[in-house]
Amino acid sequence: MQPDSITIALRLPGLVVLGSKEWENRIEVVARYSNEEAVCPRCGRTTWQVHQWHGQRKRDARIWGKPVWLLLWKRRFRCRICRKVFTELDPACGRWRRTTRRLRQKVAHQANEASVRAVAHWHGVSESLVQRSWLEAWRRPVRWGPPIFVGMDGFCVRRPGQMWTGLWDLRERVPVAAVAGQRQRDAEGMLEGLPRPEKVQAVVMDLAEAYRQAVQMVLPQAAIVADKFHVIALGHQALREVRAGRRQRGSTAALMDRGAERLSHQERQRLAQALATDPRLATAWALKEQLRGVYRSQTYQEAAERLGSWLQAAKASGLPSFARAAGSLQRWREEVLNYWHFPLTNALVEGKHNRLKVLKRRAYGYRNDSTFLLRILNLVHTD
Ligand SMILES: [Zn+2]
Repeated sequence: MQPDSITIALRLPGLVVLGSKEWENRIEVVARYSNEEAVCPRCGRTTWQVHQWHGQRKRDARIWGKPVWLLLWKRRFRCRICRKVFTELDPACGRWRRTTRRLRQKVAHQANEASVRAVAHWHGVSESLVQRSWLEAWRRPVRWGPPIFVGMDGFCVRRPGQMWTGLWDLRERVPVAAVAGQRQRDAEGMLEGLPRPEKVQAVVMDLAEAYRQAVQMVLPQAAIVADKFHVIALGHQALREVRAGRRQRGSTAALMDRGAERLSHQERQRLAQALATDPRLATAWALKEQLRGVYRSQTYQEAAERLGSWLQAAKASGLPSFARAAGSLQRWREEVLNYWHFPLTNALVEGKHNRLKVLKRRAYGYRNDSTFLLRILNLVHTD
């Protein structure tokens, strides 16, 4: 099939299109940089004397659904002053790269949602390029200092339940480290690998005894903060246990799970009717809301009082699931209240769960855990 000559807007900064052709299975674009001068890397002076042209083939992101090949004509300049010969910079691709930054960013982004193989196939690039682009996109810049506020939590990687522990810089909202396992030993090893462990002021965590002991061992100066969402989840879990086995219309269950302040007037009335016939359920719902209410406290003192009342009410409720939740929170009382010294939660880590999803999906592509561990450490290494 004959190629069509087409006009194409490349929209790559600094580049001008010299010509382009559309083929059945690809688009070819010829381009060069538009600047007429270059700065000599040796003496810093400007030159316009072109010593030589040479073409380089690069891959770019798809246009109109077709892969794009870029023939980039690059110049070698000769400095008029010191006579150095040098190749012009290539900001659209980066040094020594055979793909445009735009393509690598696109590939990295898509690799969050689809498998490495699918993305490689779609763009007609190698799987290793997809992996490298992905790592490039997520790499932690060196300029960041050691983490001061960190979040620590367990996550499941493989379906039978291989558990991992992750560590997150809560200010920069980036992963810092990950380790297979969630025993105290695993967590201690990970914390010991922190660049400046003595700088950590607070650690936000799930209510996991192994993590608490690991932090007390390795970071004795750090305050431990029980993650707000895990604390509130205890109330929801206890409520679900009370509800289990009761015949309920699905909509009532949904109303009970939602925060009271988010219910419309009519929804409140429906919920009140449902609860009126079932005092135990009404108590459970009220306790769930009361626990959420602890987090509306303005001061440490207020929070301590509200938590104290909740613990008493939960124990006196006659509901075993709430008595158990109260037992847990009694053991974590100090850490729960530390939230009023360090108002941090693990939910601050924006996109964290997306990344975990990605890690999980990618885990299936690896033959064993140690390869996967290397990938993750590569991804989240602390410089
Ligand atoms: Zn020079």
